[in-house]
Amino acid sequence: MITTHLKCGSRLCFDRALVYVSVCVSLVLLSISACSPQQEPVESSSAPDLVVINADVYTVDSTLARADAFAISNGKFVAIGSTADIQQLVGDDTKVIDAGGVSVIPGLIDGHTHLLMGAGLAVGVDLSEIEDKSEWLRIIRDKAQILPDNAWILGGAWDHNLSDGVLPSKEMLDSVAPDHPVLLRDIDGHSAWANSRAIKLAGINADSPVPPGGEIVVDPATGEMTGIFLESAGALFGDAPGMTEATDPVAGIKSAVALANSHGITGVHDMSNHFDEFLSVFDDGDLTLRVWQGARPPRVFDRSTDEVFADLASERERVRQHVAANAQTESMGPLFDIGYTKLIVDGVLSTYTALMKAPYSDNPDAIAEPFVSKDQLNAMIAAAHEHNFPVAVHAIGDNAVSWVLDGFAQSPRRPGMPADRIEHIEMVTPDDVARFASLGVIASMQPHHATCCVGNYVIDRVGRDRLPNAYVWRSMLDSDVPLVLGSDWPTSPLNPMIQMADTIHRETRIDGVVRPWDEGNSLTFEEALYGYTQSGANRTTWSDEIGSITVGKWADFVILDEKLPAEVDRALENRQVTATYLAGKRVFPLQ
Ligand SMILES: [Zn+2]
Repeated sequence: MITTHLKCGSRLCFDRALVYVSVCVSLVLLSISACSPQQEPVESSSAPDLVVINADVYTVDSTLARADAFAISNGKFVAIGSTADIQQLVGDDTKVIDAGGVSVIPGLIDGHTHLLMGAGLAVGVDLSEIEDKSEWLRIIRDKAQILPDNAWILGGAWDHNLSDGVLPSKEMLDSVAPDHPVLLRDIDGHSAWANSRAIKLAGINADSPVPPGGEIVVDPATGEMTGIFLESAGALFGDAPGMTEATDPVAGIKSAVALANSHGITGVHDMSNHFDEFLSVFDDGDLTLRVWQGARPPRVFDRSTDEVFADLASERERVRQHVAANAQTESMGPLFDIGYTKLIVDGVLSTYTALMKAPYSDNPDAIAEPFVSKDQLNAMIAAAHEHNFPVAVHAIGDNAVSWVLDGFAQSPRRPGMPADRIEHIEMVTPDDVARFASLGVIASMQPHHATCCVGNYVIDRVGRDRLPNAYVWRSMLDSDVPLVLGSDWPTSPLNPMIQMADTIHRETRIDGVVRPWDEGNSLTFEEALYGYTQSGANRTTWSDEIGSITVGKWADFVILDEKLPAEVDRALENRQVTATYLAGKRVFPLQ
């Protein structure tokens, strides 16, 4: 596993949504001005299965941007309009949901996830973004109370720098979960925090041999282990009794899917690469999430580049045949496909491993090494295209972004193939923003990576002069570059309400004060919602099947706990999901 990767409207023209609108025939428009309701001819004998009425619906479909009701039959939207319109369609067997005026949005699509890496957080405890250590302990105690004794408590994502800066101790864990082995990773994956029971089960003592690069932290006064295991020392727990079962990938994916559904997410562009584990979840009927999966080539090639991608293409064929043979696709729509290939060019700004055009401001001697040579990158892009893979490349530094654009320029994508994309793009020059547009390349960006880190270390790394080139969401849109939003979970919060709110307020802690920076690059709620729905759909072959509340599309939608205000502001981050539906079936909360 790579542990260094990872750190981190009015203009609805990200790109053009395909819209299927059938003609509205006879419905009278009661509550929507300047819009026409959408309806497919509904035969009198076939009343809808489900209707939602009295809702504040954001359709993310410009032909009918707002509505207050819709109807669903056989998993798809069949009519959208006013409550009075839709009530006329209700039959004896129609289930009616009265939303009571709250907002309803399309199912959210996260453009960049690592579901399997995040599984530990989904199965175990998630301490990310929590400053108060006593709150960490409360969450761990609660988890211990619902798990049988001796079951591992995993997860973590704790950050002691958010609280008092002091590393936590095994005694703290012992005080709340003495009967459970506990092993919690920090937010960067560099440290593991264990309790006495875990240490005993794994047979570790202060003198245990540690793999290169690791360290068992001991109290210099007593010689006793503190409970902190640095870098590779965390691997000492890998063979402990019960660990294999606790980290079962199929169970982990199921938990991650359920967590995503609880946040209103019905689709992801995932980078996990574990096809058979996903197919297992799919076969069990538990893949209640549309997964557009990236295929990663091996890090070291033992055969030609062309052969590597030929192998990935045959894997893709095997997966497609497996999925096609299952009847779920007919009733639920597309659920799993290997849609693209994922490559990596550079590292991250925090550790000076992102490839920059000019030296780092706070460490001019740091020279980042690219993960692949420019020739290798070009060869991989060309070979991927040859085998009909759109390409997504991790590029964080401005020079890495240039390299990838050069690679796309020398190998244009094939007609009919989803567009190529660059992931993260934390730094980019204005000239290169224009090249995204001319080459038709998609910008895939993660809002919280900006708000978490600009004031934390990005200003130090790039200096204030280069800061206007950082996280340029608005510049992308203004240059007609399609923008896909996502989380890069587990490196930032999976909750899209937090991510979308970040694009609106664009605040970070600068000089000790939380304040907006470069507000010209912030987005409106409508733009953020488009980036988290239809824009994600448009990167797949499912653009006319999902992504908006549109007649003819699969009925993926989310009911929020309140009506959003006319001007959506940062309070969006507090909105909760009341229910999530996939193809007209409720997937959160489960009955
Ligand atoms: Zn990632």
